[in-house]
Amino acid sequence: MKQPDKPHQVHIETFGCQMNEYDSELVRSLLRKAGFELTEDRERADVVLMNTCAIRENAHNKVYGHLAELKAVKDQRPLVVGVLGCMAQNLKEELTEKQPLVDVLVGPDGYRQLPGLLTKALHAGEQGLAQGGLAVDLSEYETYDDILPERDGGINAWIAIMRGCDNFCSFCVVPYTRGRERSRDPEGVLREVEAAVEAGHTQITLLGQNVNSYRSDDWDFARLILAVAEVPGVQRVRFTSPHPKDFPAALFDAVAGHPNICKHIHLPLQSGNDRILELMNRTYSRKEYLDLAAHVRSRHPGIALTTDIICGFGSETEADFLDTYRLVQEVRYHSAFVFKYSERKNTIAARKFPDDIPEEVKGERVSRLVDLQRPITAGLNRDLIGQTLPVMVEGDSKRSPDQWMGRTDTNITVIWNKSDAPASLGSIQPVTILDASAAVLMGRRHSTATLS
Ligand code: SF4
Repeated sequence: MKQPDKPHQVHIETFGCQMNEYDSELVRSLLRKAGFELTEDRERADVVLMNTCAIRENAHNKVYGHLAELKAVKDQRPLVVGVLGCMAQNLKEELTEKQPLVDVLVGPDGYRQLPGLLTKALHAGEQGLAQGGLAVDLSEYETYDDILPERDGGINAWIAIMRGCDNFCSFCVVPYTRGRERSRDPEGVLREVEAAVEAGHTQITLLGQNVNSYRSDDWDFARLILAVAEVPGVQRVRFTSPHPKDFPAALFDAVAGHPNICKHIHLPLQSGNDRILELMNRTYSRKEYLDLAAHVRSRHPGIALTTDIICGFGSETEADFLDTYRLVQEVRYHSAFVFKYSERKNTIAARKFPDDIPEEVKGERVSRLVDLQRPITAGLNRDLIGQTLPVMVEGDSKRSPDQWMGRTDTNITVIWNKSDAPASLGSIQPVTILDASAAVLMGRRHSTATLS
């Protein structure tokens, strides 16, 4: 290991959702304060941490693949390996027994203990969880409210306003890996927003597993998002992911009425069939969901709706699937993330509903929905041709360093040439849309155009 006077180098790899990215930012901050250094280079690291996700099979398999790679490294030189996050919480027995190379195992509520556990493992200088230890107790109170995350830069700052979830959708592992729902104090959230603006972030995205059920004394989500939108220097506010059951009128008023709150709502559907929705414990019916989507559109016709859909949940028939298919036709989402159902250990569905839809049927239903959605997205994008839209500059386009990439407030990607007019990162520019596909809008920044 390192000389005692040299800080230990930690490399963090993050898998899964945006909440995990945010947690890695918290962990970076905690480790830095405790005297560790962070490195992007795994080869130089004394410690490799994997912040893991338990939601989908894919993320799961990737973590096991990386652990196999780390075993080869660990056979060659001293290395402390830590598994953090949802897999550490949900699969602690499996990881403890089958992965003797894991030295430290820390669930989402145990990050404050991480520096101590790493120090112990580094000083023990031997492999195995016995040398480091584990912190996998779920908390009813931990919100990390006093820790300012260490962000990588960029124009967007993700800010978690709550942790955990009480909804217990039958397919979902989150209530077991992240525990019961708890909201941060509004003062802590607003302090973090101010610090993010100070650091150069002009867009804030409020995060929560069930973001719109935020509650802290007499603050609800509508009041909080309005307060965030009013912080000087904040140009745009987004939020993800809301649950369709928590949409009071005040929240519609906030989204429709405040110019800084983006006109985009991600409204996870999961299924368009009442029987499957009930098995999933989603607590809304197909009709209630359709009424909500219609109400959102009536409040702001230009608002973009996006969604998540699961295909092949246990016992889903072709007729059940067609209910989802027809709902997608009716709502005309701006985009949809469509997944094959994958059974997660320890969930209600894993205990009660057999995962009995063949993989090829799940895959075929996913393909049919993707084929349905793509032309809808392309059509909605084409409707924007000729309009001049406010677009926030996010960075270079992937295609060329001579082009900007930005987003409309409905979250659609726009590309235009830097030579059109000067622009700075994080600023909002008027861009006239010239062409559109399902993936992207192509535009031009007229040097004389202004935003009304
Ligand atoms: S609302 Fe449902 S799907 Fe979302 S995190 Fe909570 S239990 Fe999981």
